[in-house]
Order: sequence, then structure tokens, then C-alpha cells
Amino acid sequence: MTNSDKDIQFMRAALEQAAIAETLDEVPVGAVIVRNDTIIGCGYNCPISSQDPTAHAEIMALRDAGRHLSNYRLLNCTLYVTLEPCLMCIGALFHARIERLVYATPDPKTGVCGSVIDLPGNTQLNHHLQVHSGILAEEARWQLRRFFAERRERCKANRLLDSLNGGCTLS
Ligand SMILES: [Zn+2]
Repeated sequence: MTNSDKDIQFMRAALEQAAIAETLDEVPVGAVIVRNDTIIGCGYNCPISSQDPTAHAEIMALRDAGRHLSNYRLLNCTLYVTLEPCLMCIGALFHARIERLVYATPDPKTGVCGSVIDLPGNTQLNHHLQVHSGILAEEARWQLRRFFAERRERCKANRLLDSLNGGCTLS
């Protein structure tokens, strides 16, 4: 298997994690951490259901991998995530000493690997990680778009129901 085949295989696993988030009505973002071609940690976005603002997919995967390795440093690891990391998550990746980051699709609003700012490219920071993007980008984008489109439809339907109920009560 070539390196890009491996990237696709592991990004598929990250997309599967994102699908779990979607079943919980959380924004579908998933992550896996790989060392020696083996997944040693995985996680999905779940801040609402876990009542934890830090429960992004990357953080959940870092915690899982840390437990797996019994180490707070995750050396020689690659983190795959379906969406460009935010400020909090890239900081956590630096602290964990993740060697390589692969993300699927950019996040123009909160992405810090080139979208809003490029923190991995900042040479003043002492940890450096290689960054690759665009692996299964279309799938990841589609998964997010579908989630938000369905949520908008649900909100619209609820508002319609509310207005109908409101109308009945008033009349
Ligand atoms: Zn994040």
C-alpha cells in the first residue's frame, strides 16, 4: 500500500468517527491517531452531549491515544481529522508532539492551518508538524453540508409547527 492509500484508509476511519458524532446530533467531525500503521486512538466531536467545550474530535483522540500509550507525549504519530483544526486543537497537537497532521477539508471560519491563520507554518513556535490536506475532502465537506442542511430543515419545520400551534392557541 502506498502512503497516499494509507492516508485514504485512515481518513475513512476518521469519517466513520464523524458519523458517530452525527448520530448524537453533534457537528460531524472525527479523528484517529496512527502509529506504525495502527490506529491507537480515535475520537469524535461531542461538546454538547458531554457538556465539555474542549470535546473536539482531535482532543478526544489525543486522550484516547495517551491512555493507549500510557504517555502524554504521542511521538511518531499522525493525526487524521476530517476538518481543519481550530486554535485549541492545534495547541493540543503541539503539546502532544504529534509529528504529522492530515486533514480533509478546510474550515474558513476557525481553521488555523492556513485558513484564518497558519500556526503550523509559524517558525517562532518551537514544535513543528508536517501538514497535509485534501484527503477525502469531498466526502468530509458533503458530510458537514448535509448535517447543516438537515438541521436547517428541522429548525424550519419546528418554527412552522410552533407558529401553527401558536395560531391554534390564540384563536
Ligand atoms: Zn478543535
